[in-house]
Order: sequence, then C-alpha cells, then structure tokens
Amino acid sequence: MTKPCIICVAITGSLPQKSDNPAVPITVAEQIESTHAAFEAGASIVHAHVRNADGSPSSDPEKFARLKEGLETHCPGMILQFSTGGRSGAGETRGAMLPLRPDMASLSVGSNNFPTRVYENPPNLVDWLAAEMHAHEVKPEIEAFDLSHILKAKDMADQGHLLGTPYVQFVMGVKNAMPVDRDVFYYYIHTVKRLFGPDAPWCAAGIGRHQITLNEWAVAAGGHARTGLEDNVRLDRDTLAPSNAALVQRVVEICARHTRPVATCAEARQMLGLRTTCLADGKAA
Ligand SMILES: [Zn+2]
Repeated sequence: MTKPCIICVAITGSLPQKSDNPAVPITVAEQIESTHAAFEAGASIVHAHVRNADGSPSSDPEKFARLKEGLETHCPGMILQFSTGGRSGAGETRGAMLPLRPDMASLSVGSNNFPTRVYENPPNLVDWLAAEMHAHEVKPEIEAFDLSHILKAKDMADQGHLLGTPYVQFVMGVKNAMPVDRDVFYYYIHTVKRLFGPDAPWCAAGIGRHQITLNEWAVAAGGHARTGLEDNVRLDRDTLAPSNAALVQRVVEICARHTRPVATCAEARQMLGLRTTCLADGKAA
C-alpha cells in the first residue's frame, strides 16, 4: 500500500470553544497560525469555519476572505476547503463565501439528527449550494452522515451538478447519526467504489474519541483521513490536544505504521482533480 494519504485538518468547527480546549483557534489570526503549524506537520487540506469574537459561528464572507488571504500567504499550495455546513437553519447565507472561490467546500446533501437538533439540509438548499459551487468552480466534499447521502451524490453527479468525481467523506460517531460501525464503514467503501470507480478517492472522519479509530481504519483501507480540533479536542481521555498540529502528527504516525506516504499538497490536488497552484507567481493555473 503506497498510495499517498491526504490529511485534512478541521481546525475550528462551529462548536468547540476555548473553554473546551484553549488551543481551538477562534480569530482569523489564530486560525492562520494554527493551520500553518498543521500544514508544516503534514496536512494538505484545511477545512475551515469562521467565528465571531464571542466564539459563536459566523458565515461572514469578509472573515473567510481574510482567512483565505492569510492561508495563501503562509501555507502555499494548501487546499482550502470552506464549510457550508456549520450553521444549520441559516439558509443561503451558508454559501455566502463561495464567490471567494476556495478550492473546495463541504456539501451536506441530506438531513439527519445531531446530538440535540436536526441537521437541516432541505433539497432546495442542497441544490442551490451545489449550483453555487459549480458556478464558482469549487469542488464539493460530500459529507456522508448516512448511506443515502452517497447515493444522492451519485444522482447529483449523473445530472452534472458536481465538478468531477465526487469526493465523499464518511462521518461516523455523531450522536444520533451513524455510529462507528465497522461493517457499515466497509459497505460505504464498497458503495463508493461501485458508484464512482475503484480508484475514487474517499475520506473518513470520526467524532470525539472515535477520531483515532476512523483515522486508523481509513489509512489501513487506502482512504484519506480527517483530523483536527473541530471533531475532537483530546489526545486521550485525560489529555487535551495541545494543537491541531499534534492531531495531524498522530495521523502521520499512523501513516508511517501502514507504510503510506503523507500526500504533499501537489499530490493531493492531483488526486482530487483540483486547480494546481503555480508557486512561482502564486496564481492558480
Ligand atoms: Zn466543519
């Protein structure tokens, strides 16, 4: 198994606060610093939400614009993926940053339960977000909280609503959604390969203490791995993660054990069919 492993770092999310772990980056400046350390540690994708000063979630395109500018300067070549999922119920403001043309954006294609609420993704909003991504040449990452979401992505791809082969991320371990179930995990992989081809890339994320479990399973099965403080703020039951970079380092060690090289940004862009960045002039080719 020598296929490089793409490590995605989900730096902030919409929920964790400084009171949960002081390392959670909240301001744009903190986000840039935290991402830079994670980039140096081996992450090639950053998945980002933005926050207000009080820690509440925001969709402010101006904050996303400042974050994008800082990351392009400090993390050249890194794949920027903005979240359109963090503010359930906020409607089309969830996609207000898409005209900034990040490389990727997360796209949830169906609704499901979360720990204390419904994660609302009504069909008309899903279609609108997909159309905005298509118009701005932003590649979606399909967030599969359920098997039906993978089949919905196939339907959307067949209709020409997604750019290229869908990149599906399996999300497991969210309370009241899909638990961490090994048989389901392998059936997800089987379904992605059946629908999108044997070489279709896929990724997996586990929430809380399940993060490392999904990291292990994904790396061992030839997939790509997501880590970061959005999904989990601890190294183990008794130890807070000191940084996003420390969680990335944990995945780098898993890759080494499975003799998988960690993907460079250029390799990750090639595997995902993304725009390549010319480092000489900093312009997208
Ligand atoms: Zn997120």
